Amino acid sequence: MAALVDFWTPLLIGTVQTMLIVIVRYFAASGGFAWWTARRGITAGPRDPDRRRRQIRDEIRWSLVSALIYGLPAGLMIAGWRFYGVTQIQWELGGLAGLLWWPVSVLLYLFLHDSWFYWTHRWMHGPRLFKAVHAVHHASKPPTAWAAMSFHPWEALSGTLLIPALAFLIPIHWSALGVVLTIATVMGVTNHMGWEMFPARWVNGWFGRHVITASHHEEHHKRYNCNYGLYFRFWDQLCGTDKGLAKFGA
Ligand SMILES: [Zn+2]
Ligand SMILES: [Zn+2]
Repeated sequence: MAALVDFWTPLLIGTVQTMLIVIVRYFAASGGFAWWTARRGITAGPRDPDRRRRQIRDEIRWSLVSALIYGLPAGLMIAGWRFYGVTQIQWELGGLAGLLWWPVSVLLYLFLHDSWFYWTHRWMHGPRLFKAVHAVHHASKPPTAWAAMSFHPWEALSGTLLIPALAFLIPIHWSALGVVLTIATVMGVTNHMGWEMFPARWVNGWFGRHVITASHHEEHHKRYNCNYGLYFRFWDQLCGTDKGLAKFGA
């Protein structure tokens, strides 16, 4: 009996801890960027104030449900790392090889997450899955910073499974994983916040040709059947689904 309690307790603690962290992270990141957007005099979301208020309320509700769902696989990852020692998350950098692996692991995790997202996202744009699942995310027309985790529970689950699964398979230093999760959080918010935070010469230059910013994802919320990627334009460009960038305020 005691052994059973010992087995489940870290999992329970890891899950509850992650749920709380994700909720705090959501209010800090989405709230912070929504505040920054408003401070610049930009109104993200629908023009009509009543519709905007209703949309933001729904975005927050779905995001809070997503936060609870995100906690499950992430809790398993934390418990697997801290208590059971069965993940590939590393405490030590491990000399020069570890140092060289650090940026490679960040890029590899981002690329694999992006690939997973691109294909599951395209799949969810099929008529049946769109209606049953993905329509929740597209109810944000146009989105606001609060839409970062506004997903149907099935989409929240599919979106959050990959990184914890990778942590069991591909070695990564805990700080590199922290960077991956920070990039995921910031891009999830900023790509929805209704304005482009990067300077035009970045967006129209090398950076914007390869990395997804608000101008790219806004176009997905406008046109639906293009610009499916998460971090990089690689898959969209390769598969002919990249339809360029939205012009804010135009
Ligand atoms: Zn979106
Ligand atoms: Zn979509």
